[in-house]
Amino acid sequence: MTAIAFLGLGAIGRPMARRVAAAFPETVVWNRTAATAEAFGREHGVRVAPTAADAVRAADVVITCLSTSQDVAAVVADGVLDAIRQGAVFVDCTSGDPATSRRLAHDLAARGIAFMDAPVSGGTVGAENGTLTVMCGGSAEVLERVRPVLEAFGTKIVHCGDVGAGDALKAVNNALLALHVLSTAEGLAALQRAGVRPDVALDVINASSGRSNASMNLFPERVLTRAFPRTFRLALLDKDTRIAADVAREQRVPSPLLQLTSELMAMARRELGEDADHVEAVKMIERWSNVEIG
Ligand code: NDP
Repeated sequence: MTAIAFLGLGAIGRPMARRVAAAFPETVVWNRTAATAEAFGREHGVRVAPTAADAVRAADVVITCLSTSQDVAAVVADGVLDAIRQGAVFVDCTSGDPATSRRLAHDLAARGIAFMDAPVSGGTVGAENGTLTVMCGGSAEVLERVRPVLEAFGTKIVHCGDVGAGDALKAVNNALLALHVLSTAEGLAALQRAGVRPDVALDVINASSGRSNASMNLFPERVLTRAFPRTFRLALLDKDTRIAADVAREQRVPSPLLQLTSELMAMARRELGEDADHVEAVKMIERWSNVEIG
């Protein structure tokens, strides 16, 4: 029997934890805001720990899904490092930054604990359905040890390289998402002003070479309908885009588009606030162009 500790019951952590607990009955959950964990425990019949340290004490595998790597480092420093047992594996599903992950891996290794960054893609729907993509950074041997746990929420589980490689790949993926959301909004606003309806434009683009997940799914389902459901916070996409821009800069790769996308996402975050959904970045472009796409 594998004992799991799942820390972080946010928008995507909750459905991931639900699937892990269904597959591994010895799962204990913890969340900073205790009321969230208690509600989750009641709804799904899962054991709730009062502190992160209590949650990890008996765990073979610790999974974290927090906002940022800094949050993970803070939780590790606040009792988890001392409580986690030797031989356990620490799997961080946060979309984190490679440098902090490498530092965490180093600190945990000194206690005989293996670390793997394992950010996910596929959104809250993918988490509900257990069809996430999982981008793993760390040793291939550690990945094989925890693969059955990752299979509770992921279908495409990929070894990307050493610690930090999963974080770097996830950040670049999300920077592309941000770029597609912003550039599709600019294009559709311009077309609408030129007399082309956005539904007509998307119909053509989605049968042509400029299509993306943004044009195929996000704009038809969330922008044209004006639904803008809150599934993935803009603040988190801003964080991911900045990580991608930093990776490019650190690797001395010319990256004007990544740097500009990062600046634009930071502006959108300032304008729309911490609770806005990522697709609401479109509203900044709409305001600039005085057009409502739809
Ligand atoms: P949310 O903002 O919904 O939840 C964040 C979670 O982190 C909450 O459980 C929050 O606790 C916890 N947390 C934040 N700061 C701290 C801290 N300092 N100490 C302890 N706990 C903390 O985020 P999501 O669930 O959407 O995202 C989690 C991670 O997954 C992020 O890195 C995100 O980029 C990534 N991700 C999200 C996707 C999505 O579709 N939502 C898709 C793919 C990746 P509390 O409840 O107390 O606030």
